[in-house]
Amino acid sequence: MGVPFLDLKAQYATIKDEVLAAVSNVFDDQAFVLGKYVEAFEAEAAGYLGVKHAIGVSNGSDALLISLMAAGIKPGDEVICPGFTFFATAGAVARLNAVPVFCDVHEDTFNIDLQSAASKVTPKTKAIIPVDLYGQCADMEGVMDLAREHNLAVIDDAAQAFGATRNGKKAGTFAHFGCFSFYPTKNLGGAGDGGMIATNDDALADRVKLLRLHGERPRYHNKVVGICGRLDALQAVVLSIKLKRLDEWNARRAEIADRYNERFKGNDKIATPPISKGNTHIYHQYTLRLPNRDDVAKQLAEQAIGCGVYYPVPLHLQECFSDLGGKKGDLPVCEKLCDTALSLPVFDQMTDAQADQVADAVISAVG
Ligand SMILES: *Cc1c(COP(=O)(O)O)cnc(C)c1O
Repeated sequence: MGVPFLDLKAQYATIKDEVLAAVSNVFDDQAFVLGKYVEAFEAEAAGYLGVKHAIGVSNGSDALLISLMAAGIKPGDEVICPGFTFFATAGAVARLNAVPVFCDVHEDTFNIDLQSAASKVTPKTKAIIPVDLYGQCADMEGVMDLAREHNLAVIDDAAQAFGATRNGKKAGTFAHFGCFSFYPTKNLGGAGDGGMIATNDDALADRVKLLRLHGERPRYHNKVVGICGRLDALQAVVLSIKLKRLDEWNARRAEIADRYNERFKGNDKIATPPISKGNTHIYHQYTLRLPNRDDVAKQLAEQAIGCGVYYPVPLHLQECFSDLGGKKGDLPVCEKLCDTALSLPVFDQMTDAQADQVADAVISAVG
């Protein structure tokens, strides 16, 4: 038997009765969009994150879009983001006809390289989007210092890092905006699409709430052009149930990661993911760097062991951004990681035996 990359059915089995009862309540109420269930989840999430405002939105991509809109990003403004991340980080910038400007990342942590970011700042730069990739925080103190120096808005893409901490603070709470995704495969995943924006700023929170509802205030009177960016009650009740288990689930993911680290220790062909000083890691992904990545991925697939390549193409070389003039060689670390990074199965219901099976297969495949 193989090992799945992610097993959401096993997780669901542990909460099924509670989820079905909560979903049934929402159906009885026939109140599906925003409303009391969403407000309850927002309050729970704000308490968990230790942040003043946690605002439920339609998905993580819209969380980024709404945050950029609330920051006043206009056509032609430049927004710096890493070239090694999920597409949505930069897609949100482009959708506002602003210009994503890609910077390099650190090879070991996969997170933003601030020297590279600083070298991209121009008079047109208005914001920066660090990403807490795979579940650990970027150097957020460094990002905030750079932003203060150049008067930039900071939108933290914490879509992969709900519950991760840095120097005792939760991911997504350092910046002007922290953006989360509740896509089902995320470590806090809903039953469909969902997202959230965290902020400690009352005025920005008010702006976000205005923008997620077509800029309408009061009803049918539109102050600004917003989007349809609401969170559903069905998502909120499922997320409330999962949030109560999140620390336990994140801890189990970290145990699996520790087990992998132990097994790969001393193997000079396998680079394991280090944790930066002051960070805790929630391992949305457990990602190795391997010289023969494609070959290892193929061998794992043959044994029905799940693995994933996040991400095969750096953003500066994506076809849709070709008009920005990115060339091979511009961001050497991003490009290298696209050829070497391989994510292994890690999920809260994973057994030690499954982790050992994956580790054995990787060790034998790297040769
Ligand atoms: C998942 C993800 C998003 C987008 O979230 P959706 O809810 O799928 O829209 C944005 N950024 C990163 C880094 C992500 O992993």
